[in-house]
Amino acid sequence: MPISDRNPSAQALNVHGRLFLIDCGEGTQQQMRRMHLSFVKVEALFLSHLHGDHLFGLFGLLSTMAMYGRTATLHIYAPVGFGPVLKFYLSYFGEGMNFEIEHHPLKMKEPEVVHTNRSLSVSAFPLRHKIDCFGFRFDEQLSERSMQKRAPRSYAYCSDTMPFPELAQWVSGVNVLYHESTYPQELASKAAEHFHSTTLEAAQCARDAGAGKLLLGHYSSRVRDFEVFEHEARTLFPESYAAQDGDVLEI
Ligand SMILES: [Zn+2]
Ligand SMILES: [Zn+2]
Repeated sequence: MPISDRNPSAQALNVHGRLFLIDCGEGTQQQMRRMHLSFVKVEALFLSHLHGDHLFGLFGLLSTMAMYGRTATLHIYAPVGFGPVLKFYLSYFGEGMNFEIEHHPLKMKEPEVVHTNRSLSVSAFPLRHKIDCFGFRFDEQLSERSMQKRAPRSYAYCSDTMPFPELAQWVSGVNVLYHESTYPQELASKAAEHFHSTTLEAAQCARDAGAGKLLLGHYSSRVRDFEVFEHEARTLFPESYAAQDGDVLEI
């Protein structure tokens, strides 16, 4: 839940100036303003699942985009159940929206490419949570010439989920892996009960995947001490970092 210095889940991936929003918790608009991220540059939105802490910020954001006179189609990748939610929102608040919102329903059982442009390929895959939930992997596309100079970069987002064996394969080799770690290890039974992961489970996934770096997040509001997350994860995977609101990371 939101507390004074922590907002629910939302991330922006900036690929050559184009923005890809991943989840859209309450407060996303204000955070985007603080971070000087333009609403106009959002090309697509990826919603992992229909829990409020991952999408309550969406409706205000859509209305603001309309106020800014957006005309470009907005692609939203979200579970099937998002269809009626969007329809409800548009039926009450859709007047004056001069852009199309295209909902691409997610229902895959294994990784599938869902969005591509010249510089990016995005695939979605199922996570294991209380309700339908999906993770996303962003792979940079490079021309043959650029490939000779450097390797393509990649990023994966996995929230919310309990651990399961296939996940590490699906995010194998990413430069940066974001994996939720809602609980420290001493609350492992709570993690299992609520279909979430602990610090060590996140770190294990990063290690099995051979990720470059692990970003932790989605901390339970009952835990006030961030240090414990980073500290515990590093015992298994030294390149672990506990993300905080407003952090910027270059891949
Ligand atoms: Zn959830
Ligand atoms: Zn959540």
